[in-house]
Amino acid sequence: MNKGRLHSIETFGAVDGPGIRTVFFLQGCPARCAYCHNPDTWDPCGGREVDLDEIVSRAKRGKPYYGEDGGVTFSGGEPLLQGKFLFEAIKSLHAEGIGSAIDTSGTYFDEDSESAIAEADLVLLDIKHTDGTVFKELTGRGQESLFRLIEVVNRLGKPIWIRQVIVPGLNDTQAYIAALNDFLTDIEIIRKVELLGYHNMAESKYEKLGIEYKLKGLAPMSNEKLQALSELII
Ligand code: SF4
Repeated sequence: MNKGRLHSIETFGAVDGPGIRTVFFLQGCPARCAYCHNPDTWDPCGGREVDLDEIVSRAKRGKPYYGEDGGVTFSGGEPLLQGKFLFEAIKSLHAEGIGSAIDTSGTYFDEDSESAIAEADLVLLDIKHTDGTVFKELTGRGQESLFRLIEVVNRLGKPIWIRQVIVPGLNDTQAYIAALNDFLTDIEIIRKVELLGYHNMAESKYEKLGIEYKLKGLAPMSNEKLQALSELII
């Protein structure tokens, strides 16, 4: 599969994995997270077509800045929705000496996802919620893909970064962090755990797209509380 669908590209990304990275936001997502910042990535037919040559040539431009830790991150949308293309892209980048991370939501997994994960150097996993019922309410998806992903990541010995958005009234409690710590004991090679505070900057995008914003009026997460909860991560 030499062609995929791309939403956008970020150069000099510094938050989606270690070091300096070129981030390819792939188009399409099966989830509908209540706080999604990028509803414009949802439609799998949206964005534009991209081929492997473009991915490689854009990634090579950043090579002088990657150093030992940096490289490419494939984010989304949900990049595992385009598993075949993702696998080929990561393989092509490896041939150029560029490492790649996959930034997934754990809301989609199929037979091509495993090949893509096997080829990747790092997985970034955005844990939506540890509780299956809340996960479903928040994303519209079950946790089956999340558990398949964790099983594959463990079996293949892939390192993983965990990210968890903390949303006021949803999971901003010590009890939730205790549940998260417990949940993470099932993942073998964790390099980092990051809590990210909910913010409402995407509200205007929803208005423009004519989509209802389910968390309308919810205040952003306080930095102090986020910091206090971060200290409880073990
Ligand atoms: S998984 Fe990511 S892109 Fe998809 S709806 Fe959730 S936040 Fe948005």
